[in-house]
Amino acid sequence: AEVVGGGDKEVVREYFNNTGFQRWKKIYGDTDDVNRVQMDIRLGHSKTVESTLMMLKDEGSLEGVTVCDAGCGTGSLAIPLAKEGAVVSASDISAAMVAEAEKQAKEQLVFPAVSMPKFVVKDLESLDGKYDTVVCLDVLIHYPQNKADGMIAHLASLANNRLVLSFAPKTFYYDLLKRIGELFPGPSKATRAYLHSEADVERALQKVGWKIRKRGLITTQFYFAKLIEAVPM
Ligand code: SAM
Repeated sequence: AEVVGGGDKEVVREYFNNTGFQRWKKIYGDTDDVNRVQMDIRLGHSKTVESTLMMLKDEGSLEGVTVCDAGCGTGSLAIPLAKEGAVVSASDISAAMVAEAEKQAKEQLVFPAVSMPKFVVKDLESLDGKYDTVVCLDVLIHYPQNKADGMIAHLASLANNRLVLSFAPKTFYYDLLKRIGELFPGPSKATRAYLHSEADVERALQKVGWKIRKRGLITTQFYFAKLIEAVPM
């Protein structure tokens, strides 16, 4: 349902504080109460997190590196980053997600051996400050390219050295799958999913003086993500 005067962002916030929170907490968790599709998405997403950690560690130790995790969800990336010694600022538009991430961090991280990520409820458009690294995984799927351009530019403005993004790639095959999905919408598909072409993302980065340095593609049966690392030109 479209919120009058609100648009995508209000719909997304509402979704991730309610049904979307319940659905994604399960997918990102480790309990058995998931169906086959959700299990496949869990696997794909865990590969994205794994690849992101590898991309980031590739450039050297994360000890003391400041990382902004924009749209942190339940902390799937923020928690392992903290374990690597990164100084993590994690935020999400959904208060429910942030509360869950904080709870899981307290359970999984041993303080003071590991410094806790700093969690805040904030949409990424309102984030400020400067970080060595900015990461934003599987968030752009909720926004059309005309919104995504501004989000990408803003995220780049927060990063000193690198920006890691994942998005659902607009390829022929995935476009087709999505269209089939729209013909037969499942009960849990409460928000629209937007695909982005790699060329569009690359153009948005170039406009603000950034270029793509590394690219990866993560696919399972029902999960597709393009993962890119961008650096200033
Ligand atoms: N990045 C996390 C991960 O990969 O585990 C979560 C991905 S989940 C599919 C998308 C998340 O983006 C949700 O937690 C949602 O609340 C958040 N989100 C959506 N729009 C946002 C925005 N404009 N600013 C910040 N967070 C946003």
